[in-house]
Amino acid sequence: MNRILVTGGAGFIGSALVRHLINNTDHAVFNIDKLTYAGHLASLADVSENERYSFLRADICDEKTVSEAFETFKPDWVMHLAAESHVDRSIDGASDFIQTNIVGTYKLLEASRSYLNKHSNPDFRFLHISTDEVFGSLGEEGMFSETTAYDPRSPYSSSKASSDHLVRAWYHTYGLPVLITNCSNNYGPYQYPEKLIPVVLMKALRQEPIPVYGKGENIRDWLFVDDHVRALEQVIENGRLGETYTVGGHNEIKNIDLVHHICTILDEIRPRSNGQFYKELITFVQDRPGHDLRYAIDASNIKKELGWVPEETFETGIKKTISWYLENEQWIQEVTGSAFKFPRLGLDS
Ligand code: NAD
Repeated sequence: MNRILVTGGAGFIGSALVRHLINNTDHAVFNIDKLTYAGHLASLADVSENERYSFLRADICDEKTVSEAFETFKPDWVMHLAAESHVDRSIDGASDFIQTNIVGTYKLLEASRSYLNKHSNPDFRFLHISTDEVFGSLGEEGMFSETTAYDPRSPYSSSKASSDHLVRAWYHTYGLPVLITNCSNNYGPYQYPEKLIPVVLMKALRQEPIPVYGKGENIRDWLFVDDHVRALEQVIENGRLGETYTVGGHNEIKNIDLVHHICTILDEIRPRSNGQFYKELITFVQDRPGHDLRYAIDASNIKKELGWVPEETFETGIKKTISWYLENEQWIQEVTGSAFKFPRLGLDS
């Protein structure tokens, strides 16, 4: 049993991680989350009463509160997921991304370092969760791997790249026992409805136009969130300190094909009352500025070294995801509120 300090545990991936750690392991979890628009305790309702789970609403940039949390909880492991995570929002205004993703990561690294200086703990590990977007954009060939050079293009990806560099610097300079993961696009239950898959679902179910950037030619490599959570568990338990692991689901799909796929599943399980197909709602909109063309991850290293392989195919994962959203209208209402219009940000705001 380990004591795990999770940051951002009320977000999409963080809540999947916390639910997994509480439901399927005997670890104790201390969740620090600011509860921004993207963080919701409703995503943790299943585990909130568990005696191995505790929660502190706090900003990771708040040095004093974070240091006190380390002293009180005495973590063996830190799993750092708190971030501003939406590219469109970063185009609209980068300030929160610089604060949380860069300054917040720095504060956590320093809190970990001063905690370890006072309390020696040979088991201590700091896992920084990052994105494949730090590597920039691929052409039609090739894949991102642990050795790919950084080339971030958006305010979001450059803030995550900065945080990755800080984490590596704290390893090399101060010997902080760190690990980094860079993963591809996650999908699954409890994702805030501003990212592609839940937006398509929400728009379709409300019979509203489904917005697709440009011609929908961009390619993403989709990873089911619970597969990602198992990868994070493997990395923090067995990963080599100082290492980076790239994690992907081997599911390269063009955005337009993904949207068609969702429409086809909805046609089968919840046909439109007017007899039309959902794909008739698709509307192409002005492309996101600096929109990376293609992401694809070579996950062979984590497979070889740690034995991690994704359990879900895209077919099974997307069906689970769609069913979850259809059955959890109350969660959607709770996290969005009644006036929510699924806005698009960036240049279209
Ligand atoms: P999310 O936006 O759903 O959740 C982020 C969480 O962080 C929220 O609960 C929010 O309240 C919290 N938070 C934000 N600022 C904070 C602050 N200053 N202090 C404390 N808490 C704060 O994000 P997600 O999709 O769950 O992503 C989690 C991590 O994984 C992020 O670091 C992200 O960069 C990375 N990542 C996500 C994806 C993806 O597809 N979602 C892909 C690759 C990497």
